Amino acid sequence: MDPSTGLDATSAARGFASSHEQQENATTQATQTPQQVATPVGIPTQETPPSLQLPPQQQYSISTAFHADFLLDDSIPDVVLISSDHVLFYAHQTFLLSASDNHFAGLLDIDAIGTVAGSTAGSLSVVVPTGSTLFNVVLHTIYGLSCQQFQPPLDVLLQAVQTLKTFGIAVDQFLARDTPLYDHIVAESPPVPIEVFLVAAEHKLDALAVATSAHLHSLVLSQVTDEMAERMGPTYFKRLMSLHLERTGYLGKLLMVAPTHHEDTAECGKAQRKEFDQAWALAVGNLMWTVRPDIPADELRSTLSSIEQHAKCNECKRSLHARVHDIVVNWSTNAKQTI
Ligand SMILES: [Zn+2]
Repeated sequence: MDPSTGLDATSAARGFASSHEQQENATTQATQTPQQVATPVGIPTQETPPSLQLPPQQQYSISTAFHADFLLDDSIPDVVLISSDHVLFYAHQTFLLSASDNHFAGLLDIDAIGTVAGSTAGSLSVVVPTGSTLFNVVLHTIYGLSCQQFQPPLDVLLQAVQTLKTFGIAVDQFLARDTPLYDHIVAESPPVPIEVFLVAAEHKLDALAVATSAHLHSLVLSQVTDEMAERMGPTYFKRLMSLHLERTGYLGKLLMVAPTHHEDTAECGKAQRKEFDQAWALAVGNLMWTVRPDIPADELRSTLSSIEQHAKCNECKRSLHARVHDIVVNWSTNAKQTI
């Protein structure tokens, strides 16, 4: 489908939201604990629409985001998707079908719909084999909406990728750069970037893999297991290795350039500079021996600056500091950051 359709849906869907957002905020405050917990995606209800003919014995909730008044381009919902834990999500059948290439995993197939007795517009209900926390993420993504306010855990966000695929949604479009789910996952990825990178690589979500790789400079490649390598696939594993090699290679090049020498003076000539040159060579040698793609700029600065004591004149000191500054700036800004 045309991704712009999702964006139009986003703006249309935002129009309805204000009163429900207030409700959600109240719910969030009531349920928040010091630790981050997922916000409930539905509000329990005693009464379900009679037209849905749901078994009365169940306790149902209604989605706070996808409720009966959830409009898409001024259209009211015409299908109710019921999660495995009995949360009702009101949605738009034609819109879902336009986003899916498999009739929403066959659930909205014309034949399947035909079997729902007495279904009329607004009364069609379909049970989805997915829990509400996960399905809430899935539906937000299809409608081009952010679900950050529900604070779903990262593993649910990552699970949503496969679930979207199952529902026939083109994940390369719906998780392209700057889409809501892409932004959400990127924001949550720093604590466990490898988990995100593996999912991104598995599903060929290149923008997500690239963004996440910026947090993988400290990954020890020798600790990548066979299973991880298999999930990454040869292409992404190679790109990650190349990133590490390029970073360490670039640092090596920076370190190869020593501080410039000044003209001999009475105070400081070749003989006086020898100790300084040796100290520089030793510091560089030590750094190269333990070179890591994630070496912090501060560590570079402190290690290299520590040889100041071997500089015999102010000009040598100035030259050292200029060189160290140049190395640190280049390392921080010009070293390759992502695959
Ligand atoms: Zn000097």
